[in-house]
Amino acid sequence: MRPRDLGRYLKDLGWASSPVPPADAVVDALEPLARAAEKCTLCRLAEQRRSVVFGEGDPRAAVMFIGEGPGADEDRTGRPFVGQAGQLLDRMIFAMGFERSQVYITNIVKCRPPGNRDPQEDEVAACAPYLDQQIDLIAPKVLVALGKPASHRLTGTKKPIGALRGRWSSYRGIPLMPVFHPAYLLRTPTAKREVWEDLKKIMQRLDSTAGG
Ligand code: URA
Repeated sequence: MRPRDLGRYLKDLGWASSPVPPADAVVDALEPLARAAEKCTLCRLAEQRRSVVFGEGDPRAAVMFIGEGPGADEDRTGRPFVGQAGQLLDRMIFAMGFERSQVYITNIVKCRPPGNRDPQEDEVAACAPYLDQQIDLIAPKVLVALGKPASHRLTGTKKPIGALRGRWSSYRGIPLMPVFHPAYLLRTPTAKREVWEDLKKIMQRLDSTAGG
């Protein structure tokens, strides 16, 4: 299924009458999107990839973490954030009171940029329909942008991550919080204090919307 056919597909599933679709329906709708991504050749990142790293987690997650793109470990395994930075992300998730399986984790590009360079703007733009549809389908309560490329894409600005982190904005109608990338925290452990402040803001927001 091409991404733009998804809206019709969801209507066929009867979603028009249901504001909060059940988890199974979200899984059913994510599945063809993931299959489409697996075959995607919309940008040059398709040329060298081993895997398309679509994303994983709870289809009804309250929190969606969005990184910049798969690295070598993720390209090899097909799963997001499984390397060293991923282990630190797991600890951040745990500190927020969640298991990894209770959140959703993905990236602004689904294929590995060669040599772990930042994804280029045209690559991010080509991949955006996949991410946007993941966000619309999962409809989390909060989006967390991990690091500069994801924060730039989702805030639509080019401000330094130091100026963006810790400040709420929104993307596709969903509250968005940029935070430092876990890979940066591995290099700069003193920045963990700021990340913790930002994670606390997210937890407070989730608490204040609990049940709603
Ligand atoms: N860094 C990212 O931004 N995403 C991953 O999936 C892994 C490392």
